[in-house]
Amino acid sequence: MNTTTRPGPAYTHAAPEPGTLQELAPGILWLRLALPFALNHVNIHIIDDGTGWTVIDTGVANDQTRAVWEQMLAGPLAGRPVNRLIVTHFHPDHVGLGGWLSEKCGVGVTMSQTEFLRSRLARGAGGTDSAPHRAFYRGHGLNEEEVHAVTVRGNSYQRLTVDLPLSYTRVRAGDVLDLGGRRFEVLTGAGHAYEQVMLLNRAEGIFLPTDQVIGHISPNVGVDAIEPHADALAEFLASLRQIRATVPEEVLTAPTHGRPFHGLHDRIDTLIDHHRERCDLVAKAIVAGATTTAGIMPSLFNRKLDPHQMGFAFGEALAHVNHMLANGELRGETDREGVLRLRLA
Ligand SMILES: [Zn+2]
Repeated sequence: MNTTTRPGPAYTHAAPEPGTLQELAPGILWLRLALPFALNHVNIHIIDDGTGWTVIDTGVANDQTRAVWEQMLAGPLAGRPVNRLIVTHFHPDHVGLGGWLSEKCGVGVTMSQTEFLRSRLARGAGGTDSAPHRAFYRGHGLNEEEVHAVTVRGNSYQRLTVDLPLSYTRVRAGDVLDLGGRRFEVLTGAGHAYEQVMLLNRAEGIFLPTDQVIGHISPNVGVDAIEPHADALAEFLASLRQIRATVPEEVLTAPTHGRPFHGLHDRIDTLIDHHRERCDLVAKAIVAGATTTAGIMPSLFNRKLDPHQMGFAFGEALAHVNHMLANGELRGETDREGVLRLRLA
C-alpha cells in the first residue's frame, strides 16, 4: 500500500497548553512541557497508581521545566507522593531532569539497563568535542564547518540534562507493572534509542510508545560515533514489526510528541514505507553523483539545517547508509583521506 492512500492517524484529543495538565484517560494525566528546539514540546504521562503517582519522563533540564514541575508538585499533584519515576530513554527531553526530580520527590528512577547506562555514558564522556568524534564526521565527508556544528555548537546533551542517580531500578521487556491494580506491560524497542521503555495496558486499550511511534513525524533513527557501524534502522524496523504483532490495533496510542491517535498498525506501515522511500532517495542521490553520507544529506533534508538539526540529519542519513551497506544495496570503500566512499552494489 502506498503511504498516500492510507487514512493516517485519527487524532482523539486537542493538546494541552505547555505547562498544563489534562486527562488523557481515567487516571492518566497528560502534561505538556515546552522544548527549546524545532520540536517544541514533549508529552509527560502521570498515572494515578492508587496511593500516589507514577511519573513517566521529565523534560529537559532548564529553569522553565523546573518551574513547571514545582507548580505541578505544589498544585495538581500535591498531597500524594510520587511513587515511581520512569524514564523511558536517554534523550534529553525524557531524561533531562531525571536526577533532579528523583531527588526532589525522594524516589529512585526506573529505567531499562541500556538507557540508564547510555545516559550516564553521555554525561560522563564529556560531550562530542573530541578528536575521535571529529574523525568520525570527517570520515563521512562533512566539512570542517559542519564538523564544528555537530560536535560543538549543536551538541546540547550536557546542557539539557543533569546526572542521574548512581543507582536505579531496572525494568525489562516482559515485566508487568501493577499501578494501582492496573496492569501495564513493559515493551522495549531499539532504533530510536537502545532499549526504550513502552507501556501497554491491554484491559483499557492504552499504549504509551514514547518516541517509538509518533503520529505526525517519523521518529529519528540515527547512528553516532559511539557505535559507528550500527544498523539502527534494522533494529527500528524490527521493533515496529514487533509492536504491530504485539499491540492490538484498537488501542489509543499516546506518544511523547504530538497527539494521541487511533490507527497504530496503519501508522507503523506508513513508517516502514517511509524508510524504504528514504533508502530509495539515498540510491538516487548516489546515481546523481553523491559519494559520501554528507553528500547524500541534501537529498534527504531539503532545507537549511541549524547545528542541532544537522547532527540529527547526519545521524539519520548514516542510519540509512549503514542499513543499505548491511543489506548489500551499497558498497563502501575508505579513500586515502579516510573518507568512506559509497557506490551502488
Ligand atoms: Zn527520543
